[in-house]
Amino acid sequence: MTINTMINPTEHIADQFGRIHDYLRISLTERCNLRCFYCMPEDGIVLSEKSNLMSHEEVIAIAQQFVQLGVKKIRLTGGEPLLKKNIEKIIEELSQLPISLGITTNGILLEKYIDLFNKCGVKDINISLDTLNKEKFEQITRRDYFDRVLSNIDLYEKNGFNVKINNVIIKGTNDDEIADFIAFTKDRNIAIRFIEFMPFDGNKWNTEKIITLDDILKVAKERFSEENIITLKSKKNGTAKNFRINGFKGEFGVISTVSNPFCDSCNRIRLTANGRIKNCLFSSTETDLLTPLRNGENIAEHIKKGILHKFKVRGGMETNEDFFNEDNFTKNRNMTTIGG
Ligand code: SAM
Ligand code: SF4
Repeated sequence: MTINTMINPTEHIADQFGRIHDYLRISLTERCNLRCFYCMPEDGIVLSEKSNLMSHEEVIAIAQQFVQLGVKKIRLTGGEPLLKKNIEKIIEELSQLPISLGITTNGILLEKYIDLFNKCGVKDINISLDTLNKEKFEQITRRDYFDRVLSNIDLYEKNGFNVKINNVIIKGTNDDEIADFIAFTKDRNIAIRFIEFMPFDGNKWNTEKIITLDDILKVAKERFSEENIITLKSKKNGTAKNFRINGFKGEFGVISTVSNPFCDSCNRIRLTANGRIKNCLFSSTETDLLTPLRNGENIAEHIKKGILHKFKVRGGMETNEDFFNEDNFTKNRNMTTIGG
């Protein structure tokens, strides 16, 4: 496919509150080779008809339109993005656009793609890992890939990639490993990001299972002592509060979507594998881009309209009472078809 590498964005995508959206997360597939209980039902999900999913050419065409509208950063996600047919072509072609390109993956297939990522300048690799215990990994993910994921984390760290580990931290499941995960950053140039467990349809969520920033800092202080915890500067539009233990190579951070949302600085747009935009992780409405693209329409207007009406906070659930109400969060897709 011919890529227009001379894109010169003259517009931007803004919402009614003036937030500029320049970060696109593309979910490439709904399929996954894990079944993490917090994300995906044990028997998997009912997948969209293949003909309703974006082809590789459609992914590129939609991505180019977003870049034309000022998107500067694209992250590939899923399901498991490395299962997408033609993933090599997608990465090669997207890497020709004037953007920074990253990927969020469960890490199982990473060793196959290290040369491609090096060639295409894909440096930002987020890998999901919720436990350092092989048996617990199997309980959480319902699959036996722990050793492969761990060895791929080391492979990418040793080869100089910017590796972040996404850890969904859940009381009673893996909160006993907070200190061990922080200790994991002692000799590895890796950032651990503890992500608060978020509610989605059928994922056994309840408020009792949330572990907050304060809970994590309490454990860090007990194990490494308060004076050794260095608070790092927040990144622009960053979602994590970040820290380093004095003398450690890596760092750790906390993403508090539930207890302390960061909607004010949100710059994210999510594109689902069936070509719809979600203007918020928690929105219950979506804007279809794939049908107008297939009809030969200009999708720029659909994109702008879809973002303009974004709610101020968490898909319109302003209070925790609203957000914790099962009737509201069950209207959303599962995480595996949104992409995180
Ligand atoms: N399969 C890839 C992976 O696991 O990294 C990419 C897709 S996955 C949906 C993207 C991210 O969403 C992962 O880091 C995962 O841990 C996170 N996630 C899934 N369900 C979640 C939930 N209920 N709460 C918080 N994070 C969740
Ligand atoms: Fe698959 Fe990622 Fe969801 Fe786990 S978190 S089931 S790896 S999409």
